[in-house]
Order: sequence, then C-alpha cells, then structure tokens
Amino acid sequence: MTISARALACGLTLSIILNVPLAWAKTPVATGTGGAVATISEKASESAMAILNRGGNAIDAAVAAAATLGVTDPFSCGIGGGGFMVIYLAKDKRVITIDHRETAPASFTPTVFQQKGKPVDFDTAVASGMSVGVPGTVRGWHEALTRYGTMSFKQVLAPAIDVATKGFPVSPTLHKLTVENEKKFRLFSTTSALYLRNGKAVPVDTVLRNPDLAKAYRELAARGPKAFYEGPMARAIVGAVNSPPLAEGASVRPGKMTMADLANYEARIRPPVHTTYRGYDLYGMGLPSSGGIAVGEALNILEGYDLKALPRSEVDHLYLEASRLVFADRNAYLADPEFVDVPVAGLLSKQFAAQRRRLINPNGAAIRATAGDPYQFQNDQSFPLRPQASAARAREGAHTTHLTVSDKDGNVVSYTFTIESWGGSGITVPGYGFLLNNEMTDFDFVGPRPNVPEAYKRPRSSMAPTIALKSGKPAFTIGSPGGATIITTVLQTIINHVDLGMPMDQAVNTPRMSQRNESETSIEPGFSATEQARALVRYGHQWEAKPEEIGAANALVFNPDGTVTAVSESLRHGIGAAMVQHRGH
Ligand code: GLU
Repeated sequence: MTISARALACGLTLSIILNVPLAWAKTPVATGTGGAVATISEKASESAMAILNRGGNAIDAAVAAAATLGVTDPFSCGIGGGGFMVIYLAKDKRVITIDHRETAPASFTPTVFQQKGKPVDFDTAVASGMSVGVPGTVRGWHEALTRYGTMSFKQVLAPAIDVATKGFPVSPTLHKLTVENEKKFRLFSTTSALYLRNGKAVPVDTVLRNPDLAKAYRELAARGPKAFYEGPMARAIVGAVNSPPLAEGASVRPGKMTMADLANYEARIRPPVHTTYRGYDLYGMGLPSSGGIAVGEALNILEGYDLKALPRSEVDHLYLEASRLVFADRNAYLADPEFVDVPVAGLLSKQFAAQRRRLINPNGAAIRATAGDPYQFQNDQSFPLRPQASAARAREGAHTTHLTVSDKDGNVVSYTFTIESWGGSGITVPGYGFLLNNEMTDFDFVGPRPNVPEAYKRPRSSMAPTIALKSGKPAFTIGSPGGATIITTVLQTIINHVDLGMPMDQAVNTPRMSQRNESETSIEPGFSATEQARALVRYGHQWEAKPEEIGAANALVFNPDGTVTAVSESLRHGIGAAMVQHRGH
C-alpha cells in the first residue's frame, strides 16, 4: 500500500477548505495486482482482505466488510437496515443487483405519518417504532452469498464477530455522531447503555465492545437468515418496534410490525439500470432506488455538451442545472416499481434528455425546474397518470455507508447500505446489539405522490452504487452515502473523472456541490470563498446557509496495465481505508 503524493496534495487542499486536522493513520489510496477494497473503516477493509486472502471472492469479502461496518459504523448501517448491492460477475460478464431495501409492515397506510391531515414532525417520526421498516440486510447478504459467493455466513461473519467481541477504539467521527444524537439515544435504555455513559457520548478511544451483536452474528452463522426472520431474534425485533425499550420517563410512538412481516421479507434480484456515457457502459441501481435512473438521466443530458472543452465554471453550471432538472423528474415519478408504473425507459431515453437539455440556460441558473413528460418517449404507454408538478423535496438524511470490492478473478461489488438517519430510529434491539432503521421516513408524508407509504411498499431511495465498464471490462466503480446528495456525489465524481480527466483520488477529494431542484445549492465548508464558487455566483447560483461535508465516496479503478487502484476519502468521515492484494497472494 502506498499513499499517493497526489492524494496527499488534494487532501491538503481539502483539509484547508474543510478545516479538518490531517491524520494519516489510514491509507485512502492503494494500487495492487489482485483483489482490492475501499471502505470508510479500516477494520472493515481488513475483514474484506482477510476473506480475499483466504480465497473468498468479492461477494464474500463485501459481506465480511459490511458485517464489520455494522460493528464499527453502527450509526450508518447494520443488520437492522437495508441496502442495494451491484455485482459484476466476471465469468458470466453480466451485472446483477440485489435489492434488500426495507419494506413497510402490513399495517401501513398512506396516512401513517399524518396527524389530523398534517405531516407529523420529522424528528418525532424518526425516533419511533413507526419509522422502522422490515430489515432486509440479512436476506440480502444471504442471497449474495448463496447465489454468487463461495463462502458460508459462518466464514464471512467471523472477522466481524471478532471485532464485536474484542472491541474497537471509538474514533473522533463516531464520537461526534454520538454527541449529535445524544438526545435521540437517551430515549432508549438499550441504546443509552451501549453508546452513552451517564447520558453522554462515550469518549474518543474508549474500547467499544458489542457482545450482543457478536451473539446475533453467531446465531446467523449457525442458523442462517431464519435466525433473524423467525424465532427469538425476530420476536425481539417485533417487540422493540411495537413496544420500544424506553428510558425512564421517555415516550415515543410505537410501530405495528408482526412476525409475519419479518417471515415474509424477500430480497429482490433485479436487472441493473444501464446507461451509456462517452464510451462507458454504466450499471446502476434501479427502483426502488432513484439513484441509477437519476444519475443516468443527468449524464444523458450532459452528454450533449463537450464538457472537456468548456471552461470549468461552465461545466459546473451545466452540472448543477442538469441535476436540478433530474431532481424535478425524480421527485415527480420515481417510487417502488411494484406499486407505481414508473416511465423508466422514457426517463432514460436520449430523446427525453435532449428535450430536458434545451431547458438549460447556458448563462443563468433556474430557480425551480418542473418535471418533464417522459411518457412521450415511453414505449409502454399503459400508465396514464401524469404528475403535474414535482413534489417539494422531502427532508432526507445524509448518512449511510458505501463500500466496493474486487477479486483476482475480476468479480466486482459496489454496495451501499444503511439504517437511514445517523443511528436510525435510535432503537437498539434488546439482547442483540443492533440499531433498527428509520427507513420508513424516506416515504413522502403527504400525497397524492408516487412515494407515499403503503403496506409492503419500499420507500424510494437515492443510493447509487455504480459499476462502469469500458469495452466490456470493468473500468471503475463509484458510490457514496449522503441521502439525496448521493446522486449528485456520484454524478459529480463521474464528471470529474471522465470529462475533466481527474485521477479518481482527485475526483473523490474535490469539494462537492449538490443541487436538488432548490433555489440554493448545498456546498461544503469553505467553498463559497473560492474563485470556483464566485464564478458560479455570477451565473446566479446561491449557496445553502449551513455548509456541511457531503458524502463519503469509495471507488475502484481498473487501470489499463492490469493493476487496480482502491480509492477512499482522504479527509471526509475520518478518512477511508483502501487496501489491495499483490500478485502472489
Ligand atoms: N435513506 C437514504 C436513501 O435510501 C439513505 C440514507 C442516507 O444516506 O441518508 O436514500
């Protein structure tokens, strides 16, 4: 492993912008000749490497890394949540996806997040049993391993069980997130016991052990997904949702989940969303995630410009305006395809993109875009309902984790998974040490809209794990956490890399902007003072008042000389961990 000088250089630039102290304990960039992994956690990347070195494939290693992230990054992800895995299978030369998004319990109705016709307060909805969807992660991992992996649950969970048992030191990032969520965590006795001491976040460097989670993983290792979806663990989950383990004096809204909701949960193997862009074949996540479709539509719009020949300010302006248009369409049309007849082919057609492109003013920013009419370009006209206007942006969190792994045989995984907000619903399942998601708050609270809550429905996501092929071979992967900003982070990184010619580490480290059809664009701390930002203000772009770090991407690049470069963040989210094999392993 080597730290590239370039990563160091752009890390330094970004550290000045983000005002984050440099600490190079982890290695965010590594180039090797066998398998490779990039995650945001050193322990998770080590788990993936251990599995690769034992002869496991990329799918085995991805599950091992994910299980470890459930221990070391418990507020972003875990078996209490769900996710989307995109897999390139080298032998078959094809890409498949595993949708293991949480589903709404059978008790759900479109008005479940309303009181007297008004949406309930968002934070109140988050910290409640109502926000918890039926977790999909365990079923997703099981599908991945049994269909495409080579190892058992027992083998791939072993490294995570070790970390949960022996413990790991609390990082400054985990501490900061605990502090930010103290209020929510204090509501629940189990979560307070695990992450707080006398109501306050456990200090940095405390060795955090989670024997209950180790026990949950051991039960999965012994009995497979049944251990989660039936029997004592399932009863503990249902109990925690319907009668949350409250701290003294606390009260929250209970949920209505049944044992049947858990027993009936299914992951879905779905075809990927495929788009082409400047010689690349991009494979992304389809519905119920809006990620792949939104990224694809934006790239189709941007394909009409010779971006590499334009001044940087023009490229940035076009990127922001394409994002704005795409979010208008996303909000108007996209939702769970088992409930809503979404005009996917129309949205992804090059003709629709050309029509949308004509709306971009090359000299000025629009304030708010309205949704287009993809039905004109839809072969199947069976769905007559045409949403009139885009829904206002529902509040979405900025959390989650993304990881990516490849193996020596050329299999590749790009995987984003989550429990939604930092710390999910805040409810830790008694006796099993994992937090339950609040994914149901990704539904729109009021309708009529495609993404309203319904029984068994999966809320629309923004997760966008992506694999790009060139001439039929893997070229790069990219993905990020960050709620709806995932779409813009993935899009911006692709443009940085493909159009602006940045090496992937630079493409990842460059300051991010996120335009989601709002009058203001989200930016990172320090950006508004830069010349790049001032140039955009001249187009009429305005910045959100409170800049925050956006995303935490992980990527792989398959170099023309046969080497592979793993790339993680140099500064965001406490620096990521890239690791690679070298020929001979
Ligand atoms: N719930 C979000 C989604 O599915 C992910 C959570 C986040 O990144 O904030 O898009």
